[in-house]
Amino acid sequence: MIRIIENEPLSKHTTYRVGGPAKYFIMPVTNDELIETISWAKSKKLSYEIIGFGSNVLFMDEGFEGVVVSTALLNRWILDKKEFLVAGCGVGLMELVEFAVHKGIAGFEKLAGIPGSVGGAVKMNAGAFGIEMKDILVDCLVYDIDKNDVEVIKNEDCVFSYRKAKGLENKIILSARFLRKRGEIKELEKIKNDILVRREDKQPLEFASCGSVFKRPTGDYAGRLIEEAGLKGFSIGGAKVSEKHANFIVNCGDAKSKDILAIIDHVQSTVYKKFGILLEPEVKIIK
Ligand SMILES: Cc1cc2nc3c(=O)[nH]c(=O)nc-3n(C[C@H](O)[C@H](O)[C@H](O)COP(=O)(O)OP(=O)(O)OC[C@H]3O[C@@H](n4cnc5c(N)ncnc54)[C@H](O)[C@@H]3O)c2cc1C
Repeated sequence: MIRIIENEPLSKHTTYRVGGPAKYFIMPVTNDELIETISWAKSKKLSYEIIGFGSNVLFMDEGFEGVVVSTALLNRWILDKKEFLVAGCGVGLMELVEFAVHKGIAGFEKLAGIPGSVGGAVKMNAGAFGIEMKDILVDCLVYDIDKNDVEVIKNEDCVFSYRKAKGLENKIILSARFLRKRGEIKELEKIKNDILVRREDKQPLEFASCGSVFKRPTGDYAGRLIEEAGLKGFSIGGAKVSEKHANFIVNCGDAKSKDILAIIDHVQSTVYKKFGILLEPEVKIIK
């Protein structure tokens, strides 16, 4: 039976630490519970949103007038099969990276430090340092919300691009299979550790954030444009453009979603006026 929590603060479930209450908040622990949750929301004609670890979402201060379904407790297992590594959607990507590196499985090490779930990472085609989820994904088991059915979607059935997975709309990722390529443990460890150090050096990890707020525009970097526009340190309320990395808008402790949104607007219009480039948010703004 599903456990429904009413008026759950979303600030507790997002890395931004902002967001008002979800009218209903549900954390299914089995696939059946997830399916039951969606059927329940549909039967009540409630709108719903799926979240993983909430590291790329921005909910409003007013909260969400529907059901927020978190997959953070769902399918928290990793299986090491002969040809594939299989991970449930609720496994942390960082946990999966650690697992792969310690087993000498190559291809995951550059994803170190991305604080999302496996489900969220596949859906976002998360990536860093020249590697994206699509490069290691074989296929995923999904719950198709429209068909009310569970099916396997192969990598080649989707069109993956920068932070986009066309073909996974209206589908909840339950688990994913990844390539199992042999690597040298020591070498993989070194790459992973170097990347973690680079992240620590370049990113304001001491503050709550959603990582990079804007997508990389073609041929340039959002961070460079924001910095050139003189916006480092620009603040509204409890949020500011990080001085360390201009593409991070950080929560200094008491930020509201409206502060972050106002900064997003200001950054977009300032950069547009100066460079004629409209920055597109990478963070999912959920109104
Ligand atoms: C400090 C920091 C650094 C970051 N660095 C990077 C980086 O280097 N590269 C990068 O790509 N991202 C980065 N991110 C952003 C974020 O971690 C990734 O986008 C991550 O993949 C999001 O996963 P999540 O589980 O938190 O998803 P959420 O934020 O919870 O959700 C994001 C989207 O995925 C959907 N979703 C979540 N789970 C599922 C599921 N099981 N099935 C279907 N849809 C689902 C949601 O509906 C939503 O649309 C960073 C974030 C932070 C805070």
